[in-house]
Amino acid sequence: MEWLIGLAGSAGIAGTAYANRSLSRSGFLAAVMLGTVMYALGSAVWFGSLIAFFVSSTLWSKWKKHAKEKAESGYEKNGMRDAGQVLANGGLGLLLCAANWAWPHPLWWYAFLGVMAAVTADTWATEIGGLSRTPPRSIKTGRRVPPGTSGGVSGLGLGASLAGGLFIGAAAWTLLLAVPGQAAPEAASAALRLAAWVGIAGLAGIVGSLADSWIGATWQQMYRCDACGQEIEKARHCGRPGGRIRGRAGGDNAAVNVSSSLVGGAFASSLALAFGLA
Ligand SMILES: [Zn+2]
Repeated sequence: MEWLIGLAGSAGIAGTAYANRSLSRSGFLAAVMLGTVMYALGSAVWFGSLIAFFVSSTLWSKWKKHAKEKAESGYEKNGMRDAGQVLANGGLGLLLCAANWAWPHPLWWYAFLGVMAAVTADTWATEIGGLSRTPPRSIKTGRRVPPGTSGGVSGLGLGASLAGGLFIGAAAWTLLLAVPGQAAPEAASAALRLAAWVGIAGLAGIVGSLADSWIGATWQQMYRCDACGQEIEKARHCGRPGGRIRGRAGGDNAAVNVSSSLVGGAFASSLALAFGLA
């Protein structure tokens, strides 16, 4: 029964995204698999946190799309999300959900909360921070860099990261209240848990986003377009291959996303341990 409910819910939401061209065919299949397993092995709270990430990120990516198009032309992640991008954002969460199913412990939940906060913060920072009127600065050198450069941070982007993390904490807590019988095995009162979940998710969002910028500036392969001179994440721009200027082999956007969400998850579970929540 859980599998059927999860499948129906996931197919409905991913199907809408596919119809709106936010997901490719492979992205649709990956999202349905991810959502179904997370509902069946986790709960409505785990599943709902994933949906909160997915729906909010999709809506932000549609918002002021035209204004962001120029900066985003050099990103790997523009346009429809494929299976690789869906799994880069949700795969780690799925592993944590499966681990909690096999060996139940509250620490898995906090790691999951941190991972979802980090991927949400990173996506919100990209979508909202891309509209910053002041150019971002490199997290490593402090120098101004063109919008869209990996490793660039702006005040607007950091604010968006914090908001994304807080949003995930608040969404998870709302789901916990709304769905009876889903409470995590904790003694903390509901109000205390709200403060803890929202606070931990907000901080994990900021930390994950800073880690994303740092790892992006250090590891991510960057190319320069031979035609227009823009620094880009993609190997191709303006219809021709660009030359690699820095980064490590294999350091693509998905690898950076997974690494920074690991940082967010590790940070959130450390906080939960420190405060005696898990
Ligand atoms: Zn170009």
